[in-house]
Amino acid sequence: MQSSIDYKQLAVSGVQALQPYQPGKPIEELERELGISNILKLASNENPLGASPKAQAALANPLKALELYPDGSGYQLKAAIAQKFGLQSSQITLGNGSNDVLDIIARVFLDNSRAAVFSEYAFAVYPIVTQAVGAELRIAKANPAEHHAMPYGHNLPNIAAKIDDKTRLVFIANPNNPTGTWLSGNDLYGFMQRVPEDVMVVVDEAYTEYVQETAFPNALAWLDEFPNLIVTRTFSKIYGLAGLRVGYAVSSPAVADMLNRVRQPFNVNSLALAAAAAALDDDDFLSRSVMTNTAGLKQWFDACAESGWEYMPTVGNFITVNCKQAATPLYDALLREGVIVRPIGGYGLPQHLRISIGTEAQNIRCINALKKVLAA
Ligand SMILES: *Cc1c(COP(=O)(O)O)cnc(C)c1O
Repeated sequence: MQSSIDYKQLAVSGVQALQPYQPGKPIEELERELGISNILKLASNENPLGASPKAQAALANPLKALELYPDGSGYQLKAAIAQKFGLQSSQITLGNGSNDVLDIIARVFLDNSRAAVFSEYAFAVYPIVTQAVGAELRIAKANPAEHHAMPYGHNLPNIAAKIDDKTRLVFIANPNNPTGTWLSGNDLYGFMQRVPEDVMVVVDEAYTEYVQETAFPNALAWLDEFPNLIVTRTFSKIYGLAGLRVGYAVSSPAVADMLNRVRQPFNVNSLALAAAAAALDDDDFLSRSVMTNTAGLKQWFDACAESGWEYMPTVGNFITVNCKQAATPLYDALLREGVIVRPIGGYGLPQHLRISIGTEAQNIRCINALKKVLAA
């Protein structure tokens, strides 16, 4: 259709400046494009064991009543989360994925007179939700590539230095995606003590269940001490429910009250509510997922050592490899091998590929495919 109006110019300025989020390539899309099958997707940090069986079984009831609106308050899921982590339901805000919660947080605390701070290489959703509401982005330099302990990791002094009177929100991913880097309990707690009380700090713990390091913190334990802390978590990663879209924020009840005012009344659907509540209890699935991931990380670390591949110091369910050459052609070559990984040029890392940890057999296939395309 022809029009003399430039619709981009009609959009609010923050939206005009947005870079669209680039998701992992869906399996069906690659099937259509290349006419191949037996595709391995290691591009979106999904659980290679599938979804929690308890969650799958819990879908039967809501499937019989799809004509009903979901419980807009999410009573049972919030009660289950509160019970599991020793919280009050009044501290919880449910989201259509934790991305929805991040968007709600931005809409509650930001506008065009305010700024949000986060690290270079931080999760791509932080700039999107910040810019969409017209707020200023303040990007703190990450640790340099040659840093002794945590190359590419969040640098808390650099983040703190970007905070001023205009700053109302700080986003910290622990561990971070796409780097896999993490902050110790000591460092992050010390940071919380220094941040002014009127600056909200979001600690995004999407991968927390995978982390084995003893110095890794559980920010939920600090909520009573820091009323400006918001912790976000998701059912998309270890619980294997990415397709259902459900995540949550935990905060003080006063902050949760604000978040819940902005939240759409039925933002989490009835299938997601039921599955998430059941998945929370599925300790067996969780421990199998952790074991698979820990073994898979070791498999990748060994393969990298053997092949001389450099990688970021990850504790998540993915590994980001430095290909020492433009990563896009390698990504394309891997697609032709039927393996989908994630190029992260959009993060300013054009020579790296982020690869989700799979099952042992999936990891072998991906490692061999990477060897092949690097040798070509
Ligand atoms: C995957 C991921 C999430 C989860 O997003 P959902 O909307 O819950 O699927 C949140 N934060 C980070 C850093 C992630 O990598």
